[in-house]
Amino acid sequence: MAVALTGAGLSVESGIPAFRGNQGLWDRYDPLEFAHIEAFRADPQKVWKMLAELGGLVDRARPNPAHRGLARLEELGYLRAIITQNIDALHQRAGSREVIEFHGNGQRLVCLSCGRRYSQEAVVLETLPPRCSCQGVLKPDVVFFGEPIPPAASEKALAYCRQCDVLLVIGTSALVAPASHLPLIAKQQSARIVEINLERTHLSDTISDVVLETSASQALNDILEHLGR
Ligand SMILES: [Zn+2]
Repeated sequence: MAVALTGAGLSVESGIPAFRGNQGLWDRYDPLEFAHIEAFRADPQKVWKMLAELGGLVDRARPNPAHRGLARLEELGYLRAIITQNIDALHQRAGSREVIEFHGNGQRLVCLSCGRRYSQEAVVLETLPPRCSCQGVLKPDVVFFGEPIPPAASEKALAYCRQCDVLLVIGTSALVAPASHLPLIAKQQSARIVEINLERTHLSDTISDVVLETSASQALNDILEHLGR
């Protein structure tokens, strides 16, 4: 059974900027000022203004060949699940069914007071921050720094990493805990780690069994072509 762990590198080809690295979002916005839950609680309007800009990027983004390739692998029975650190829902839009959203979903909002969830379309963003019918402040249903991983997603991700024979690590340097633990957990249960990244990462020299230094789209294309033969 193969499972994929995906990150920001996968969605860069869809026009969503990566958070880290050259031209990364965190070069423009200090994560402690914008992506920490305490910063959000202190000044939700400021954070929402940045999110409105980000939301626009996500709205315009479309799944790219890598998203579609992973959906095809699932359809063909080679891939059991995708654990994604991305919040753009592009895997689902590409047709993937078993998607574990480790860091939540930016298309949903959650009320900080009562916990009610809304789809983004159901909420008018004219005045920021948007509010719940209970008047509580709405927050994107994504994991901010200082917040825990949603327990259901965390448990499922761990279970898949313990069971899989192959873990595809795609478009992520897997540096941020606790997602960073997942490749190691899979490896300890004797899974093979296949890493697909444009550049080598700390995983390449430590636990990866195979390193494909290429774009996710190219790698998925090659894998599907190989399986078709
Ligand atoms: Zn509420």
